[in-house]
Amino acid sequence: MLTHSDSILFDTFDHDHLWHPYTSTTNPLPTYKVRSAEGCTITLEDGTQLIEGMSSWWCAVHGYNHPVLNRAIEEQLQKMAHVMFGGLTHDPAIELGRLLLRLVPDNMQKIFYADSGSVAVEVALKMAVQYQYACGRPEKNNFVTIRSGYHGDTWNAMSVCDPVTGMHSLFGSALPVRHFVPAPQSRFDGVWDEHDIEPLRQTIEAHHRHLAALILEPIVQGAGGMRFYHPNYLREAEKLCRQYGLLLIFDEIATGFGRTGKLFAWEHAGVKPDIMCIGKALTGGYMTFSAVLTTDQVAGTISAHEPHAFMHGPTFMGNPMACAVAKASIELLLSYGWQEKVARIEEQMRRELAPARALPQVADVRVLGAIGVLETHQPVNMARMQRRFVEEGIWVRPFGRLVYIMPPFIIRPEELSRLTEGLLKIVAEPENYSE
Ligand SMILES: *Cc1c(COP(=O)(O)O)cnc(C)c1O
Repeated sequence: MLTHSDSILFDTFDHDHLWHPYTSTTNPLPTYKVRSAEGCTITLEDGTQLIEGMSSWWCAVHGYNHPVLNRAIEEQLQKMAHVMFGGLTHDPAIELGRLLLRLVPDNMQKIFYADSGSVAVEVALKMAVQYQYACGRPEKNNFVTIRSGYHGDTWNAMSVCDPVTGMHSLFGSALPVRHFVPAPQSRFDGVWDEHDIEPLRQTIEAHHRHLAALILEPIVQGAGGMRFYHPNYLREAEKLCRQYGLLLIFDEIATGFGRTGKLFAWEHAGVKPDIMCIGKALTGGYMTFSAVLTTDQVAGTISAHEPHAFMHGPTFMGNPMACAVAKASIELLLSYGWQEKVARIEEQMRRELAPARALPQVADVRVLGAIGVLETHQPVNMARMQRRFVEEGIWVRPFGRLVYIMPPFIIRPEELSRLTEGLLKIVAEPENYSE
């Protein structure tokens, strides 16, 4: 399967020494070498140009090499790249915080900056446990969540990921055991089935004495299955949390910043969480950064009891360059009519992906906001299908039985058509599936 340009595209040092996400070192999936990226185009080492369909895993909402974001980092760099956040503060952190509070549910009043999505989830879980401890209920220290979720790869984040796709069996008894209920079955745009909430009700009724919080991704379950579920699930879940003294944690790391058609996915249901995690598109895809937001009540309760502090503090907390580029990215998003852009992408994907329903390989087609998903009957042969996408000039990374796109919001209609046409074509090729 090698071609003339393989020596440029596939680096031997990389192959021999660099670990890539979820791959083998002895028999790694191919990794294509990138020379540069600009707007919606990724340019490979041999000059091949690919239209970006993944936004680098939800992050690069404005595309690549954006002058406004470049300038924000360059200007901050001239002042300081970093200072510790213990005992020091700075304008980038303050200004970003001010901006964020205008965009999140109005009960979110306290902000904890962290390094990555997974760390934000760790922080949120710790916050919930410390809150219950401060309330005099230290035995409320476990979590309930829904299946098909994804919350990151660190220890506790992993413990609340879907137990099957999250590979819980691999880590065995080393992993804390959480309570799982089936993922909601009522589709986002379908009819609400009130039985959908029963498993959660039963689990919370049975175990609430030991439950600190319910954690879930509102409306869109991302890497755990690309599922879109009914807003009533969140409304009913909120009632149960209130009734049984659980905090409600929304992981908006993937759904945040316009991706689902709302600025944040909680807006689809109007349900405000007690704790909210944001990350990924927060910096427009420029660097790793995240934040955990919570209420005065949660923060105040934690602070009112021994040790009168929340016990977490990353070395790179509130990194000024990350804060500066996050602020610039959010201002850019708000300035250019993101709703119209996302609505246009949604409408075009609905229209152009609909014919996939007729393909024998396709089990389901779903679109929400700037997320378009083809669910296949058979698991894809990732290396093979990826290569076919590259040959079509598009960057799409499928996994399992999911072939999906979530393009940058600045994508032009003709670029998006290249993505959807490529998707339909490659998904229909029988040889792109594992036996
Ligand atoms: C990606 C993701 C995370 C983990 O973020 P990292 O920055 O990769 O650690 C957590 N939750 C959700 C919903 C995500 O999509």
